[in-house]
Amino acid sequence: MPARLNLVVLGKQGAGKGTQCKRLAASYGIPHISTGDILRGAVKAGSPLGREVASVLDSGALVSDDLVIELVRERFEEPDAQSGGLLDGFPRTLGQAEALERILGDDGIKLCINLDVPIELVTQRLSSRRICQECGAIYRDTDVEAISGTCTNCGGDVVQRADDQPEAIRKRLETYERDTEPLLAFYESRGLLVTVDGDQSPDEVTSAIEAIVHERGLA
Ligand code: AMP
Repeated sequence: MPARLNLVVLGKQGAGKGTQCKRLAASYGIPHISTGDILRGAVKAGSPLGREVASVLDSGALVSDDLVIELVRERFEEPDAQSGGLLDGFPRTLGQAEALERILGDDGIKLCINLDVPIELVTQRLSSRRICQECGAIYRDTDVEAISGTCTNCGGDVVQRADDQPEAIRKRLETYERDTEPLLAFYESRGLLVTVDGDQSPDEVTSAIEAIVHERGLA
C-alpha cells in the first residue's frame, strides 16, 4: 500500500481551512476530516453525542479532548481513511496532537499547513460568514444565497452559525491563541510545519499548498 497522506491544516477560525480542505481532499482523493463538521452533524441529528456537545459548540468553547480524540480514532478506522486524511479543526490542543501521533503510528502526519491570516481579517470573515445547514456550503452575507436564505447547491437553509456571533467569535479566537497556537512549535520541532499566506484568493492559496506538497514529494 502506498504511504498514507495525512495532512493537518491549522489556522484561526475563518482562515479558510474548510474551503481549502474541501479542494485538497478532492485533488488528493483523501477524506476531509473536520471535527467541527462531525460535531455539528451530531447536533443536527439530535444524537446523544449531539445533545452532549450542543451548548459547548454554541458558546465557542472546546469540547473535551477525550471526546474528539475518540471521534478521530474511529474516523481513521473507516475504509476511506486508509489512504490518509486531511485534518481540519483537529488537533486543537497539545494533548490532541500527541494522541494523533499515537492513533496514526509510524505512518503519521506528513505535513502541517499553517494558514496565516491577520486577526482583523478573520474577525470580519467570520461575522459575514453564512453556511448551508444541509450541505455545509459556505457563503458571505452579501451572496444571493445568504440574502434569500436558500442554498443554490441543495436547497437547504442558509444561516449564520451561532458561534459566528461576536461574543463567540471573540472567545474562539482567544481559545485558538491559548490552546492551539502552541501546536505551531510542536510541528515546527518535527520539521513538519509550513506557513502559507491565507490573505490571498482561494485559488492562490490552493496553488501555494499544492506546490509545497509536490515539492516535498508527498503527492
Ligand atoms: P470548527 O468548525 O472547527 O470551528 O469547530 C466548531 C466547534 O466544534 C468548536 O468551537 C468546538 O466547540 C468544537 N470542536 C471542533 N473541533 C474540536 C477539537 N479538535 N477539540 C475540541 N473542540 C472541537
